[in-house]
Amino acid sequence: MSTEVPLLQVEDLTKLFPIRRGLFQRVIGHVRAIDGVGFDIRRGEIFGLAGESGSGKSTLARIVVGLDGASSGRIRFVGEDVHTLRGTRGFRRRVQMVFQNPGSSLNPRRSIEQTLSVPLRFHGIAPSAIAPRVRELLEMVELPASFRAKYPFELSGGQKQRVAIARALAVEPELLVLDEPTSALDVSVQAKVIELLMRIRNELDLSYLFISHDLSLMRNFTTRIAVMYLGKLCEMGFTGDVFDHPAHPYTQGLISSVPVVSEEEAALKPAVERIRGEIPSPANVPPGCSFHTRCPAAFRPCRIDDPAFVQVGFEHRTRCHLFPRDSTA
Ligand code: SF4
Repeated sequence: MSTEVPLLQVEDLTKLFPIRRGLFQRVIGHVRAIDGVGFDIRRGEIFGLAGESGSGKSTLARIVVGLDGASSGRIRFVGEDVHTLRGTRGFRRRVQMVFQNPGSSLNPRRSIEQTLSVPLRFHGIAPSAIAPRVRELLEMVELPASFRAKYPFELSGGQKQRVAIARALAVEPELLVLDEPTSALDVSVQAKVIELLMRIRNELDLSYLFISHDLSLMRNFTTRIAVMYLGKLCEMGFTGDVFDHPAHPYTQGLISSVPVVSEEEAALKPAVERIRGEIPSPANVPPGCSFHTRCPAAFRPCRIDDPAFVQVGFEHRTRCHLFPRDSTA
């Protein structure tokens, strides 16, 4: 394992949202949207966070970039607590986010040049350097320089997302948080945006936190992945290990539902039942293992005890009673 300080460390993070009722909006309980989540992202890696909608992925992304606060736990950026960094422009420059829907994340009243100039001005770039930097950013995301004068309504979904990526790159961040960056796009456009993200990451030596419900995108794109269910991580490891030897029944179900294009790929899929039913509400998390209401392998302890994370391979961990605590590989 590398001894280098990770770029990002998330430690035992929890986020509670109050549930309010009645005339006086009294707090009658809490939704535990994130529950004791921990992982790190190493320099240069693409870390995938997978799970269905409602699992807490986007809440986690917003906390990492500082759009929301955590209820407890800690986040460090290159070893420093982000609570002390967050007020500084330095931190905001070093961690940027690309949102799911480029249509709503771009201001319709701003031209592309104005959109790309805002972060440059905010971070004190000299006025004379702004126009050349805008041209450079458009080139980086493979859009013609003539797009400077266009407005978002004149662009396709894929072009808007390229502008959103250019805006995130404007201030030379070290970590990009990509929250479902391709889910609003057609499949053919998705592939091109992923190719673009790969090229940019290689050229600029960036790290990505890539969030998606689509495991098929994760397989060739990410270095390591973590799978999230109802606010908790249930499996984490190198992408190849998790895809080739998924340990948690939820991961197995997600992988088995990924569409395949060849018999070879079909042979590699785990022979498991599809996940049944819908993800429960985060306001009503089942006791014990929160996946037990949908798990084909559930047995008695699953309804009572919440399993701990155990090691099942090299840097491969899962949270399931099928793997007792002494199964360390
Ligand atoms: Fe299924 Fe039990 Fe494992 Fe949870 S702990 S994933 S319910 S077998």
